[in-house]
Amino acid sequence: MRIIIDGERVPVNIRVNRDLLLALKSMAKTLHWRIRYDAANEVVHVFSPSYSPPVDQPVVSEILEPESNRLTGKVVCIDPGHGGSDPGAIGPSGTLEKDNNLAIALLLREKLEVNGCTVIMTRDNDTDVFGPNALANEELGARVDIANEAGADIFVSIHNDAFTNSAAAGTTTYHYGLDAAINLASHIQKSVVRELGTKDRNVRFGSFYVIRYTNMPSVLLEAAFISNPEEELLLASCDGRERAAQSVCEGIMKYFKV
Ligand SMILES: [Zn+2]
Repeated sequence: MRIIIDGERVPVNIRVNRDLLLALKSMAKTLHWRIRYDAANEVVHVFSPSYSPPVDQPVVSEILEPESNRLTGKVVCIDPGHGGSDPGAIGPSGTLEKDNNLAIALLLREKLEVNGCTVIMTRDNDTDVFGPNALANEELGARVDIANEAGADIFVSIHNDAFTNSAAAGTTTYHYGLDAAINLASHIQKSVVRELGTKDRNVRFGSFYVIRYTNMPSVLLEAAFISNPEEELLLASCDGRERAAQSVCEGIMKYFKV
């Protein structure tokens, strides 16, 4: 037997409430049933022990127990750069920036959420936020609107850098606002450089649309250069993405002083 709890699909991924998930998990535990969460479709599957999932079962994940409440009450908007019709930069061996950005962002979401954070994603799959082949301002404006309407405490846009000279390498974090944005950028920059072992290209002022028009302290991370063959491998590897996500999470915690 299987019970399916199907969330309503919404344009902005306000996910199934974490408390609800944990309540369902505890119910399943009492019954000795299994529970899986399909985050992309906001569907919770609860299985009896005798139930064997069909082969076309969607990708579902374990519901993670919270590790801490360090980020409870905080709202973080994560913006995986590019997506859908816009691949972003393309590495020498064909890696797409949009895929690296999304992979790091999804890992980051998980790490923030297990510490109690409310995470808003501008996208959580390979899609255009405004629509395919939109004007840059429409696409970027749609991302800004999501962050502003959610009243996020901070906004973090995740990108890969690229340059015509493949020797260019390293990590840069851009801010547009002052004080709090510089503080956030500094913590993230320091943490990512330490964890990835990349060259420190420092915190810089940048007039990127998404950090210019968001109302909260906002930063844009260029994690490493996808145009550099070595860093392309780093960005495409599970280990590199994991370390990038972990370090951004640590930078965010330092910023919030938790
Ligand atoms: Zn980019």
